[in-house]
Amino acid sequence: MAMNIRHFLNFLFTGAVLVTAPATAQRQYVLKGATLINGVFDRPLKEHLVVVDGSRITGVGRAKKVIVPAGAVEIDLTGKFIMPGLIDAHVHEESPDDWATYLDWGITSVNCMYENSDTALAREEWSERDTVRAPRIYPTATIFTTRGGWWEGGDFPEDPAVNRFPGDPEEAREAVEQLHAKGIGRIKLMMDDMRWCRDPLAPLETMDTAIAGALLAGAARLGMTSEVHAPGRSMAAVAVDGGVTALVHGVLDDRMTARDIESMLSHQTFYIPTFCLYYFLADVDTFMARAMADDRFRRSLPAETVARLTGAEYSSRYRTRYPNGGFVQSHLPALNANARAIAANYGQIAMGTDMWALPGIGAHLELEYMVKAGLTPMQALTAATFLGAKFLGVLDRTGTVEAGKDADLIVLDGDPTADITNTRSVYMVIRRGKIYRPPWNPAPPGR
Ligand SMILES: [Zn+2]
Repeated sequence: MAMNIRHFLNFLFTGAVLVTAPATAQRQYVLKGATLINGVFDRPLKEHLVVVDGSRITGVGRAKKVIVPAGAVEIDLTGKFIMPGLIDAHVHEESPDDWATYLDWGITSVNCMYENSDTALAREEWSERDTVRAPRIYPTATIFTTRGGWWEGGDFPEDPAVNRFPGDPEEAREAVEQLHAKGIGRIKLMMDDMRWCRDPLAPLETMDTAIAGALLAGAARLGMTSEVHAPGRSMAAVAVDGGVTALVHGVLDDRMTARDIESMLSHQTFYIPTFCLYYFLADVDTFMARAMADDRFRRSLPAETVARLTGAEYSSRYRTRYPNGGFVQSHLPALNANARAIAANYGQIAMGTDMWALPGIGAHLELEYMVKAGLTPMQALTAATFLGAKFLGVLDRTGTVEAGKDADLIVLDGDPTADITNTRSVYMVIRRGKIYRPPWNPAPPGR
């Protein structure tokens, strides 16, 4: 071996060095001794090697069955677990500073919602660079709504490139075409009066179903992904019939019927429950107290952020904005039952958090909520990897541990199929072959 192992690892772990060094030729290593959860088989595979060359996985399998290049550095991971990097299929960017924390928590890809399509494209391009400490950002833009609906003016910007508030089906078609021409691949629609969380505040205007239909049909015709915010069962059913790619929130207000689920299966609709969002709105204090009870989460955030998130001012702000937590709380059993029923019928559940406040952490909480709702740990992990990549249309690139794909991986200390909260035991994160160690877990690599 040309380079001393410790120097080599220092070299791998120090982003600043990698940027200036001839990185790809050097970044050839084999992960040895770990149990592999590859995202394809429904059981962990003992002692599988993963060979990484540059940004790609070039071999996976048992020793002797895999060709290991002569110069590859061996990284001994005996007793650890390797799985595909996590994919959060519903996030918002609260601050660009949060992206590093997402990656450090093992989130290697996200679907991020932007009101502004220029920002969306700029972020996507930025995140494609190998040297960026961030997940790969697959943006959704714009978020279509209606005048008086969620969310006009105020905090939320207009999209200077496109009308976010189409007034008729013709304007809707035109807006989708404009986005497609710019290179946008995913759009989102708001179909919600928000009574379920805002009552007794005035209900919001909802999008006309003919306009929604034109947006969905326009996206389908151009091969774009469409996502709908429709936590109400009847609106969700309209969107599913209209050919939406994904419900980006679970259905909260009622139990889905067998017919609802059949319709989702026949349309191959993805279902993204966002348990975090609902548990957050049900009771902000309880949600935050539970999240911050894990000191790994606490240590990964600045102390002032922890104080802010757990402070009375923070929860009271959300209680004022969303006073109907009682409704959310009382409908959590329906939310859980709907996810369980879809999973039991082999529907396509992807993992998404909608958790702007807890970058990366939300994904680990979401996985726990999925299992609490009745999914098996493996179903939850598949939702957060394979199915997330399928939803985003990037399964050729990520979402499983297979030769030819990007080396987007997490190495864990504990077995997440035995206890889903072991996804939090992040030992290292690999994005496109580059290795990161979470700064809150600074134990030296290797033995
Ligand atoms: Zn959202």
